[in-house]
Amino acid sequence: MKDVINQTGFFKEQYQKFRKSVSDKDLKCFAGLKTDVERLKFVEERNRLEFPSRSKDSKNLEQALNLKEKGNKCFQKEQNADALSFYSQSLVMYPQDGDLTEFSIIRANRSATLYHLQEYRAALSDIEIALAQGYPKHLHYKVLDRKAKCLMALKQNYTAIHSLRETISALDDAKIPADVRQKKQNDIQIMLGIMVKSKACDEQIKKPADIINRVTGEKNPKYKAASESVGFDFSESEGRFAQAESDLQSGDVILREPPHCSVLLQENAKTHCFQCMKRCYFIEPCQKCSAVIFCGPKCQQMAYKTHHKHECEVLKTLWESGASITCLMALRIIIQKPFAYFLKVGQELEVNGRVGSRAEYDGADYSTVFDLVRHEDKRSTEGMFHKAYMALFLQGCLKRSGYFDGNSDLSGEEQSKAEMAVGGLILRHLQSLQFNAHEISEMIFTSPDPKTWKSIFVGAGLYPTLALFNHSCEPSIIRYFEGNKVVVKVIKNIKKGEKIYENYGPIFTQTPKAERQTTLKNQYWFECSCEPCSRNWPMLDGMDVSTMRFPCDDTACDNVVVVPVNTGSFMMQCNKCGRLTNIMKGLKVLQDSESLFRLGESFLQGGEIHKALRKFLELQSLLSNTLVPPFRDFYLCQQNVRNCIMALGNTHPPLDKFVQRQSVNLKKL
Ligand SMILES: [Zn+2]
Ligand SMILES: [Zn+2]
Ligand SMILES: [Zn+2]
Ligand SMILES: [Zn+2]
Repeated sequence: MKDVINQTGFFKEQYQKFRKSVSDKDLKCFAGLKTDVERLKFVEERNRLEFPSRSKDSKNLEQALNLKEKGNKCFQKEQNADALSFYSQSLVMYPQDGDLTEFSIIRANRSATLYHLQEYRAALSDIEIALAQGYPKHLHYKVLDRKAKCLMALKQNYTAIHSLRETISALDDAKIPADVRQKKQNDIQIMLGIMVKSKACDEQIKKPADIINRVTGEKNPKYKAASESVGFDFSESEGRFAQAESDLQSGDVILREPPHCSVLLQENAKTHCFQCMKRCYFIEPCQKCSAVIFCGPKCQQMAYKTHHKHECEVLKTLWESGASITCLMALRIIIQKPFAYFLKVGQELEVNGRVGSRAEYDGADYSTVFDLVRHEDKRSTEGMFHKAYMALFLQGCLKRSGYFDGNSDLSGEEQSKAEMAVGGLILRHLQSLQFNAHEISEMIFTSPDPKTWKSIFVGAGLYPTLALFNHSCEPSIIRYFEGNKVVVKVIKNIKKGEKIYENYGPIFTQTPKAERQTTLKNQYWFECSCEPCSRNWPMLDGMDVSTMRFPCDDTACDNVVVVPVNTGSFMMQCNKCGRLTNIMKGLKVLQDSESLFRLGESFLQGGEIHKALRKFLELQSLLSNTLVPPFRDFYLCQQNVRNCIMALGNTHPPLDKFVQRQSVNLKKL
C-alpha cells in the first residue's frame, strides 16, 4: 500500500529537532537495543520537546441553527436534496451536551425530506431517534403519521397499523383546533378500517443480493474468513504462501474478511462513514466532534464503543501532526480494545513469549496481528529511530485521550510499565503495517465507458488472512471492498496445488519490469521473482499479436508451439519433441472468442455488470484452455473482468443507481 502522509504536519519538523539533539554515539547505543520497549524508553528519556496538541473540532449552536433555517427554506421550495444536506450539516454542528429538543426537531425535519426523497428506511431511523431525544409531545402526531406512511411505502402494513393507532392518540396532545383534530382522526380511522379488513401484513424484507460476494463452497475450518479451497503453507524460500486445495474457477470468491482495524483518510471524513467507510448519503453525527460522520446510528454507536470515544479527543492532533495512515492504524489497533486487554496480553507475553493459541486463525484475534512479518532485522537504525519517536508521540496521544485511565488497582510503577509496554506494541505495529496494510478503494463512475472509471483511495485496512498471500506481478486474484470488508475473487483458473498470488501494486501488463522491481524493493523489501519478472514477459503493448501460442499436444512436453495468425495449416510440429499438434479446434475457439468479447462489452456499456462479467469469465476460460500465457487477448479480457468485479464493491454512485441512469440514457437515445 502506498502510505499517505500529510506533508504539512508538525511531526516532521519536531522529529528533525529531536534527531539533531541526539549524538551519533547515542544512536549507536540505540542500534544495539533488542526490544521495542527498550527503543521507546530510549527516545522517551532523551526527548525534551513537548508534542503540540490541538483541541477537537467543536460544535457550534449558532451555525447549527443557521443551517437548519437554510434547510427549512429549501424544504419549502421542495428542494429536498439541498434541504437534506443542510439538515445533515446542522445535525453535525449541533452541540449534544445540553437540551436536545431543538436537535430532535432538526431530525424530524430531515425525516420529512428523506420521506420525499423516498429514502424510507433512513426517514424511519430519524423518526425513532427524534422521538427518543425529546421531540415535543404536541408534535408527535406529525412524525408518527410520517412513520406510518414510510412503513406503508415499505409494504410493512401490519406495523403501519400500529403507527396509525399511535397517531390517533398522539393527536389528543396536538395544539390544533378541535375540528381539525377530529377530521384527522376520522380520516385515519377510515384508513385503519380498510387496512384491518384487508388483513394487512408485513412483506418479507428481501436481503440485498450478496450471494455473489459470498465465499464459494464451504468455509475453511482453520482460516475463518477463507474458503476451504484455500490453504496456507510455509517454505524457506517463499515464507508463508497460499495455494489451491481444490481446482478454482475464475470468478470464485476465496476470501471475505472484515478488517482487524481500518482507518478512513482525513479527506473523506465528511463524505464517508468513519466506521464502515461506506459513502454516506444520510449523515449521523458524532456526539462530541464535528470532524467525522457516520452512515447511521449503528456505526456511530459501534465506533463510539470501540475506538472513537478516546480517539475523538485526539483526532485533530493526529491529523495535524502529519502522521501517515499506517501510523493512525497502529494507534487504532490499540485504542479499539480496552487497556485491560493489553494488560493481559503483557502478562501472556511475559509467561509464554507469545500471544493467543494457534488452533483457529481469526483476523479479529489480536494474535494474528501480533505475529505479522515486520523485518525488524533489515530496518536501518535511522528508520527505526524515526518510528520509535512516532510511537512515543502516538503513546502520548493515547495518554491524553484518557485511554490509560481508570485502573486504580495498579501501582504508579506498574501503571507506567504497562503504558510503556503498550507503546512498545505501537512500535511493533508501525513496523509490520508498512508491509501488511491494504488500501481500501471505491470506484467512481462518471460514464458507462470503463476507461473513465476511477478507483479512489478511501482509507486503509489490516486483513490478517489476506496478509498471508504473496505477491506476483501476474496476480491470480483481485480484491474489492464492501465498505471496509475485503472480498477476494480469483481472476484465472487455478489447479489444485498451484500457488495463489495477490498483487502488492505493480502489474506486469502495465508497468515495466525495472519499475516493478524498484517499487517492490523500496516498499516491501524483496526482489520479485514471479514468472513475468523471471521470464521477462512483455507488457501488454509489447505482446506479439502476429502469433498465437498453443500448448504442445504431448502432455509430457512443456513447449509452446508458436503459430503465425495467418497460418494456412492445421498441423504444426513442436520444435522440441517433434510431435505434431492439431490447432484446428483452437482456431475455432479463437473465432468464437471475438463475438463473446463484443457481447461482454455491449453489456458493460449498458451498465449490465453481472451479465458482462459472466461473458468475460466465459471468454477467459476459453482462452486459457486454448492458449499459453502471456497473450494479449487474455489480458484485455482480464482487464474487463477486473472492471466488472470492482463495480461489485464500493462505487459512487451506487451500482443500482448508476444502472438506472444508464438505462434512462439509453432510452433517450
Ligand atoms: Zn457505517
Ligand atoms: Zn468525534
Ligand atoms: Zn514480479
Ligand atoms: Zn512438444
